[in-house]
Amino acid sequence: MMEYADLHMHSCLSDGDKSPKELVCVAEKRNISVMALTDHDCIDGLEQAKNEAKIRNIIFIPGIELSCYDEKDTHILGYNISSDNEELKQMLYSLQESRLSRMKKIIDGLSKAGFGITMDDVKKHCCGKVMGRPHVAAALIEKGYGKSVRDVFKKYIGTGCKYYVPYKKMDVSEGIDIIHKAGGIAVLAHPKLLRYNHEEFADLLTRYKAMGLDGVEVYYPCHYAEHVNLFLELSKKLKLFATCGGDYHNDFDKTKNNMGFKISLPGIKETLELLIEGADKK
Ligand code: AMP
Ligand code: FE
Ligand code: FE
Ligand code: ZN
Repeated sequence: MMEYADLHMHSCLSDGDKSPKELVCVAEKRNISVMALTDHDCIDGLEQAKNEAKIRNIIFIPGIELSCYDEKDTHILGYNISSDNEELKQMLYSLQESRLSRMKKIIDGLSKAGFGITMDDVKKHCCGKVMGRPHVAAALIEKGYGKSVRDVFKKYIGTGCKYYVPYKKMDVSEGIDIIHKAGGIAVLAHPKLLRYNHEEFADLLTRYKAMGLDGVEVYYPCHYAEHVNLFLELSKKLKLFATCGGDYHNDFDKTKNNMGFKISLPGIKETLELLIEGADKK
């Protein structure tokens, strides 16, 4: 019987610590029947995860989590995207390049301030092409500059901190468009993290719906009943699909080790049917 699903997780090709293959093994241990790999700005792990999922009898949905911007960092999940879409590949290449030049600036800032940290120290923690602040955080912790990822974000590299450097992200509308062009469906990730009030969320989702947004991540580890109810209600009103995502990255980070939601949760079965049908056609 299909009991659990999870449509949001990361491998070491972005900022998780497991290979796509290992990630599928974790999903199997946690009794997941339907899973999606959604690396930040990267589709390189999809093939490996898909093959392993087939071996382990897990239904696999190819995904991505695009780093977009709309006054705040806003993440848009894309499902059933075609990995061979030229426009998507080009856009990911330019995002990865802009992340790399931004990484050079972060490291430059840190070394000028006396932190003994090099590009190689950071690269050691990154097995793919998507270099991000979580990898700097790992290098800083390794060098003894902080106790936890949260700690070093707070002290050094969090948004607004001394060593924070932004990089060029696409607008939410561009993110939705590119996902559609690649044949996928676009979903707003972890809305609660955007920290708007109820009215603002209603306006935001209405605006994104007009841009073509298809769904919203209703179920997420830090979404309590209040948020689930709000996003579920808005999803019904705006005809958006409800999705569930644990945003798994690794086992040791308390907020990043969640995986699996009951398929019986309101709205989920319908979404899975749609996604599974789409994945079959890929
Ligand atoms: P980047 O895209 O390189 O700017 O890094 C963003 C990623 O860093 C997010 O996807 C989160 O996984 C992580 N992150 C952002 N803020 C924090 C924080 N305060 N504590 C821990 N991780 C964070
Ligand atoms: Fe992440
Ligand atoms: Fe995210
Ligand atoms: Zn994520």
